[in-house]
Amino acid sequence: MKAYRLIVTGLVQGVGFRPFIHRLAVKNNVNGFVRNIGGSEVEIWIEGFVDNIERFVESIKNDKPIVAYIDEVIIEEKEPQGYTSFQILPSSSDRITRSNIPPDFAICRDCLNEILDPSNRRYRYPFNSCAYCGPRFSYIYKVPYDRENTAMSKYRLCKECLIEYNNLENIRRYHAEGISCPNDGPRLYLINAKTWESIETKDPVTETAKLIDEGYIVAIKGIGGFHIACLASCDETVLKLRYRKRRLTKPFAVMGLNTSVLEKLVYIDESDRFLLESPQSPILLLPKKPDTPVSKYVSPGLSHEGVFIAYTPLHYLLLMETRDKFLVMTSGNIHGEPMCIDEDCVRNRLKNIVDYVLTHDRVIVNRVDDSVLRKTLGNYVFLRRSRGYAPQWIRLKKDLSGVFIGFGSDLNNVFSIGFENKIVMSQYIGDLDSFEAQRDLLKYLDFLVHNYHIDPSKAIVVVDKHPQYVSRSIGYEYASRYNTMVIDIQHHYAHAIGALYEAGLEGSYISLVIDGLGWGDDNTIWGGELLVINDLEPVYSRIGSINQLPLTSDRDTFYPMRLLVGLMTIMGYDWNDIERLLSRLGVYDKSLFEYTIVYKLVQSNKYTPASSTGRLIDLVSALLNVCSYRSYDGEPAIKLEALADRADRIVDIPGFRIVNRDGLNKLDYYSAIEWLIENRDLLSPEVLARSFLYNLGYWFGELLTNSIKGLRIENTVLISGGAAVNNYIGMGFKQRLDEDDLKLYIPLKIPLNDEGVCFGQVVAASLYRNKLY
Ligand SMILES: [Zn+2]
Ligand SMILES: [Zn+2]
Repeated sequence: MKAYRLIVTGLVQGVGFRPFIHRLAVKNNVNGFVRNIGGSEVEIWIEGFVDNIERFVESIKNDKPIVAYIDEVIIEEKEPQGYTSFQILPSSSDRITRSNIPPDFAICRDCLNEILDPSNRRYRYPFNSCAYCGPRFSYIYKVPYDRENTAMSKYRLCKECLIEYNNLENIRRYHAEGISCPNDGPRLYLINAKTWESIETKDPVTETAKLIDEGYIVAIKGIGGFHIACLASCDETVLKLRYRKRRLTKPFAVMGLNTSVLEKLVYIDESDRFLLESPQSPILLLPKKPDTPVSKYVSPGLSHEGVFIAYTPLHYLLLMETRDKFLVMTSGNIHGEPMCIDEDCVRNRLKNIVDYVLTHDRVIVNRVDDSVLRKTLGNYVFLRRSRGYAPQWIRLKKDLSGVFIGFGSDLNNVFSIGFENKIVMSQYIGDLDSFEAQRDLLKYLDFLVHNYHIDPSKAIVVVDKHPQYVSRSIGYEYASRYNTMVIDIQHHYAHAIGALYEAGLEGSYISLVIDGLGWGDDNTIWGGELLVINDLEPVYSRIGSINQLPLTSDRDTFYPMRLLVGLMTIMGYDWNDIERLLSRLGVYDKSLFEYTIVYKLVQSNKYTPASSTGRLIDLVSALLNVCSYRSYDGEPAIKLEALADRADRIVDIPGFRIVNRDGLNKLDYYSAIEWLIENRDLLSPEVLARSFLYNLGYWFGELLTNSIKGLRIENTVLISGGAAVNNYIGMGFKQRLDEDDLKLYIPLKIPLNDEGVCFGQVVAASLYRNKLY
């Protein structure tokens, strides 16, 4: 007879793990207990014959529940206590190590079958869930993941549910904390948004589907927040939503009943289907079919549609009853603010956007936006890492030796907490220019600090170097509240070192970071940088960069034509030439005045130089008449890529060259822009778009291969930054690397855009700290 105590960490709470252990113990004839412990890990005590114990331990890893994953099993031999049975014990608040807070899971196949089966007692039940599916992070108040620590605590299990909960043989419901049924679970309400009066109806779901089919716009409470739903096939309805939401062209996501429905809209391959149907059920950007029934106003000017499937029973039941079986399903927010998670917010913020509200009385504790992925060079990369992924940690190969809080960047803010060999990235917070997003940053920071058992006074705060970043001042305030140290990290170094640590590489590497704007060490704006970095020391050398272009005002970000005028000015064009081009681009009288000012400012050296890849792409987008006003983040670049998607070939764009200025290799693209200006009418905009992006990528490769001569670095090249998601830049870059037998690494776990900055901040700060002590 032997006894062992096992501590299992990973994603082991809220995933049906304890019931699985219980059944395994019975099967292998071992006694003892299993319980959740406070760090969200699971403790197992087993006693029995050695053979049985060995088989038991083996099966833990091999047969674990689908949505669970195991980081580590710590095994200690103990004195047998004479247990005569195996039991699930109440949770303990003891904490041995930290473990993951479970993310939210999409409805599983079995739960779906139940709600579609007229003989099942959960037939058409909109809140069905089991040990393997349903909300988790979005409704948890604190760890451990027990019912009383979630928004389900107020729903007392009925007799039948209790029987299921206590029945060892009931694989999906035995000790499943979030279960409920039509007798005891949350209730749905349909509300008229104008009067805020409840609508009397037996079946709010059917009624809502009817209203949507009639062209009404409805707010729907989901797992992590409210969506706004309406017909996606009707131009008039979509335009009404655009008008009410004051959202000109930013694409709306489309939710389909399942992947078979989505196949009528977009091209889906096997791996896409797998991802769409995964427990994470993210939004995936997929190429539109030419005969798609979706209104062109859903994602105007784009070649891809953002699609996802009904991931909750409520969504499924609703979509099933609509005419189309697919709907616009966009965040329930007003421009620039986080999406609503409660009825008060809907009433205050969305009353002029929606006609009706389909809501329920289960509380959303933590806002969790839908995750978004796309394909770049055949890899799925994150555009937003939130529902289904956050707040699961990302493991590093090395210990951080300390606790760190990275406050991230201002656009697409995500913060992170680093401890041991793990970094927890928060859910998507949003753009910090809204007060609500700033509030959410601190709210969810408190939540994760508390639940991952972090002592903020022992944490090092990490912020971006940009002197005007709101995230930076929030970080400083936080640090002074807890009397702790602040380290600031250069933006592109954070991108680069994050990619290195995600890849788990050791040694010195070259990294290309291409994005919009980040504060450089020389107090100019950077955004197209070659950095040599290594995994041991917080040092980087900038050995290459892209030519600078002049920024004259914040308006440059919104009006890419200003960037074009500014660049032409430093390239030596005189006003007459510029005016001639502008009139060919359809810019006349009134707005010309604005451009004369840009011209004069640049001529008198009143501008900030920026080696920004993002702004270069923006101005090319203006030059090819794709986008002259940016109404959402990345619009000029996204539209340029969509145009490029329609091209049938790539031509050489002459004029790129590598020059050495001030000891720095520079990718000089001025003559390439000049060539584009002169040859605009000779080739189709599609071919020019694809060719420019491809050539730009290729010449980034040229810059890189030229700059690393004589350096002792490994032969893998890292790429990151928001512009790195561009497929054609990636293709050109990879082509040039292939010619020199260099490998390319694209981060797949952390977003390439500024959401990923918080990850690199923590890594970089830990390297600084190691150097200090
Ligand atoms: Zn389920
Ligand atoms: Zn029940």
